[in-house]
Amino acid sequence: MRSRYTAYATKQAEYIYLTYAHSSQNENSVDDIAQWAAQTTWLKLIVHYASDHKNDLANNDHAQVEFSAFYQLQGKIWQMREKSNFVIEDGAWRYLDGEVSNSNALNKPKRNEVCFCGSEKKFKQCCSKAF
Ligand SMILES: [Zn+2]
Repeated sequence: MRSRYTAYATKQAEYIYLTYAHSSQNENSVDDIAQWAAQTTWLKLIVHYASDHKNDLANNDHAQVEFSAFYQLQGKIWQMREKSNFVIEDGAWRYLDGEVSNSNALNKPKRNEVCFCGSEKKFKQCCSKAF
C-alpha cells in the first residue's frame, strides 16, 4: 500500500501496474497509469485502517486498507478516501480493487492557515512545499 503510494508519488507506472492483481491489470494499462501519474502531484497519505490478516486464518491471503490521499491535479487540491482490497498473488501483496467513498476538490489554504491534510500544521510548513 505505502509502496504503491510512493510509486505514484515518484511516477513509477510500471511498478504500479505490476502491483495490480492479475484480474485488474487488464483495466489499467502502464500508459494510462503513467499519464495520470505525470499530471498528479501527491501530497499526503493517511492510513485510517488496515486489517490484521495474520490473525484471520480464514482470510489470510486478503487484506483491506482504508486511506485518504491528497493530491494536486490541474491546479486543484483533491482529497480521496478509499477502501482498497489486496490479495496475495505470486507471494506478494497486490491491489485488487477499491471503493472510493469520497473524492472532492478542496480550496488551497492561505500560507498561515491550518493545512487541509489534518496535520494541524500551518499550510506553509506542510503541504505547500508541493506548490
Ligand atoms: Zn499538509
